[in-house]
Amino acid sequence: MSTLQPATFFGSSYRGRFAPSPTGPLHLGSLATALGSWLDARAHQGKWLLRIEDVDGPRSLPRATTTILHQLSACGLQWDEELIYQSQRTSYYETALLQLFQAGLAYTCTCSRQQIMSALAAQGSHSERHEELIYPRICRPIQIPHSLANSEFFNLASPVAWRLALQAEELKQSVGDFVLRRADGFFNYQMAVVVDDAAQNITHIVRGADLASNTARQVYLQGVLGYPTPHYLHLPLVLDQRGEKLSKQTLATAIATENPQLTLQALQAAANHLGLANLSNHHHLTIAEWLHAATHAWREQKI
Ligand code: GLU
Ligand code: ZN
Repeated sequence: MSTLQPATFFGSSYRGRFAPSPTGPLHLGSLATALGSWLDARAHQGKWLLRIEDVDGPRSLPRATTTILHQLSACGLQWDEELIYQSQRTSYYETALLQLFQAGLAYTCTCSRQQIMSALAAQGSHSERHEELIYPRICRPIQIPHSLANSEFFNLASPVAWRLALQAEELKQSVGDFVLRRADGFFNYQMAVVVDDAAQNITHIVRGADLASNTARQVYLQGVLGYPTPHYLHLPLVLDQRGEKLSKQTLATAIATENPQLTLQALQAAANHLGLANLSNHHHLTIAEWLHAATHAWREQKI
């Protein structure tokens, strides 16, 4: 009898991840994302990696990271491989920015928000207060000169923003030349997430639907940086009574993991949200048993 089987039976090459921003403890919404991505990875016999997205220095709370790690461990959502922190990966983002600059795809911008709004108003395009502004390309060179496409002009010391010189028509209409690195030196989420998903060889991204509108930008960046594009699955958001996304702003309460019973309740609530309602009569299970049952349920639901 042959023992040869297709490679997938020995464990697949699936690599998923959970990438929380440490702005507060996990609430029901972020637990649902963590659980959904964990279940999808386990159902595929894949790996599940964890990345702390503290790229936005001033908005990240070190205490939140400690709490999130503690909550995940209590829930039995154990991650594989090394945990990475975006705050320690600036040099990788700089290398990617240099690559875009050398390809003539990145330029510096000194516009203030006020200048951008005035330019947009002068063009007759109005923008709502909270909408992302579509940059009117004031600082974009007609063509990024070839002589400039040289690393000696690549100066990260000056406090200017770096923008992507978009070539794609559709993105030009919807988001415009978006910022890659801010004037304060912090890299923007799109850049960091794309560099890190590639660095961690992520094949499957399972995340909240609130991030779906970023996907086109991320796929575009993957293309110009020569990275592969992973599969994307966006999970429905957990909404509060007013129909708003749960977040720190809407005072979503932290999930309680003080004891296994509370932890199971939190996991069950997250699973209900993911449509795995059949698990509700499994309250006598340990967390490990519950996760095992949930993995089966996830696999069946997805087929
Ligand atoms: N750090 C992002 C957040 O917590 C998630 C990034 C992603 O999954 O692509 O909203
Ligand atoms: Zn500018």
